Amino acid sequence: MSALPHDRQDNFRSPLDPYGAATHEVTNQPVELTDYNLYDSDAALKEAVRREGAAWATTGLEAFGARAGSAEYLEQGALANRNPPELDTHDRYGRRIDLVRFHPSYHALMKVSIEEGLHSSPWTEPSEGAHVARAARYYLQNQVEAGHCCPVTMTFAATPCVKLQPDLAAQWLPKIQARVYDPRNVPAGEKQGVTIGMAMTEKQGGSDVRANTTRAIPVSSEGPGKLHELVGHKFFVSAPMCDAFLVLAQAPGGLSCFLVPRWRPDGTKNPLQIVRLKRKMGNVSNASSETELRGALGWMVGPEGRGVATIIEMVAMTRFDCMIGSSAGMRMAVAQAIDHCRQRKAFGALLVDQPIMTAVLADLAIEAEAALALTMRIARALDHRDDPHEHALARIGAAIGKYWICKRAPGHAYEALECIGGSGLMEDSPMPRLYRESPVNAIWEGSGNVQCLDIARAIQRSPQTLQAYFGEVSSAPGESATLDRHVAALKDDTRDLSDFEARARDLCDRLALGFEAAALIRAGSPAAEAFCRSRLDARGAHNYGALTGVDCKAIVKRSAAR
Ligand SMILES: Cc1cc2nc3c(=O)[nH]c(=O)nc-3n(C[C@H](O)[C@H](O)[C@H](O)COP(=O)(O)OP(=O)(O)OC[C@H]3O[C@@H](n4cnc5c(N)ncnc54)[C@H](O)[C@@H]3O)c2cc1C
Repeated sequence: MSALPHDRQDNFRSPLDPYGAATHEVTNQPVELTDYNLYDSDAALKEAVRREGAAWATTGLEAFGARAGSAEYLEQGALANRNPPELDTHDRYGRRIDLVRFHPSYHALMKVSIEEGLHSSPWTEPSEGAHVARAARYYLQNQVEAGHCCPVTMTFAATPCVKLQPDLAAQWLPKIQARVYDPRNVPAGEKQGVTIGMAMTEKQGGSDVRANTTRAIPVSSEGPGKLHELVGHKFFVSAPMCDAFLVLAQAPGGLSCFLVPRWRPDGTKNPLQIVRLKRKMGNVSNASSETELRGALGWMVGPEGRGVATIIEMVAMTRFDCMIGSSAGMRMAVAQAIDHCRQRKAFGALLVDQPIMTAVLADLAIEAEAALALTMRIARALDHRDDPHEHALARIGAAIGKYWICKRAPGHAYEALECIGGSGLMEDSPMPRLYRESPVNAIWEGSGNVQCLDIARAIQRSPQTLQAYFGEVSSAPGESATLDRHVAALKDDTRDLSDFEARARDLCDRLALGFEAAALIRAGSPAAEAFCRSRLDARGAHNYGALTGVDCKAIVKRSAAR
């Protein structure tokens, strides 16, 4: 037996016939951008991978790009964010467990990232182009879901830091670098693969970690590699289900770095207790927590009193990943915007063909391509750190890139969202997620002003970094008169840096723009000239779409995902 109206009977005739109850036909609405190859469809990325020394990785990247762009995989990213993690501090009988439960999609993405080696490949397979290939893959994975990339990055970045303590490195690095994801809440000794977090920030000081009050008391003897008990708090600890954390605390000899496992070596719980989870506007799939250390055991990593210098080895790599992450967000935003505008008509023509929109889309594409070009250039520098020029370039370039690219992301996400109109604001679109994620990379791992100070520190402590910068941006004189003028003015303005802080934002903005322009010119990108004209000629406030004399259609076509 069937019931009306869901199941029509032959002898039933609606008074609304011949149209039935249909109100309208859906027209002029795009087909979602899914089931496409994230790598194959990205001309700028493919060129960068070849140019910067990782052509050998092409086949693997093509396969990964197909997987990442599949509807099913993109849905995992959406689900992981629609279902935020939850904390259980205690079990139902009142025992302390500090257990964060994540959605299965989060675990599925973690498993792929770890099995693809996004947390370790340049360390375990340090071949020509290893950082470039890893950056390209991470760029694709970040477009699908940025939140889970936080623990992937921290685990990746932990290697150079843990290496500074050879006894700990021998014990931990094989598991940190293993391509095994094991999310069980059990001691690291029972796992083949582990993940690593970091805990620096306290309530009274985030950027200024020297204000840390967490104390480290030696258990039997003092010094590097020795066990200490840590007492204090940390105001931000992301991915608190990591198996161990690099933590800053005040030892008798000053601020030092410690490796603090979630479980003690004897298999009991280490009292690194989660007080609550942060309620974040972005980065929702990933948990960030407030914690208290109530005598948590940790081994000192690196020299006593040199905690900042030790953990900076980790921070340098997380900053580089922030560049990749923000570049990836821009790529996904512009791909979505162009795809939408190629299908949506207004006032009788496709949006993509309406001159004002063409210019906006082209400008968004230029911004994304410039971010990628700079990021991949730094990836190559990381692959060649035995070369003094590349070493110096990586140092200053990562600081400039982290500052600038992460800072450009929110405005870019907003403008891309607006290209889609009202549907861009809806939660079932990927745009709100991209928008809410966009400020995160600028804040953590060194907020904007702190990055400016880091650029100043790099120049003051190692003047060769500024020489490397000018070597890089001056290497193609005559190719762009605009860039030549920009570089000449920068040289003048950086001769005396005694008042750097007063001019920091202006100088750092211009350093970044010069670097991006040079990277695009060296890449032979069709976006290069438009970038120089729109970013170097007109200093200061910049609105997307204010391009003149540029072949916007060609730029948009190059950046279309399909
Ligand atoms: C989602 C999320 C996750 C996080 N996860 C972690 C984590 O896992 N581990 C961890 O240790 N931390 C984590 N953090 C903390 C993050 O690193 C800090 O928020 C950041 O370092 C800034 O510190 P703060 O919030 O105390 O701000 P402050 O240090 O108070 O800075 C506030 C503002 O002042 C500026 N400023 C600071 N000093 C100067 C100066 N000398 N001159 C001019 N301007 C200055 C900064 O640029 C910033 O804009 C996380 C943060 C977020 C948002």
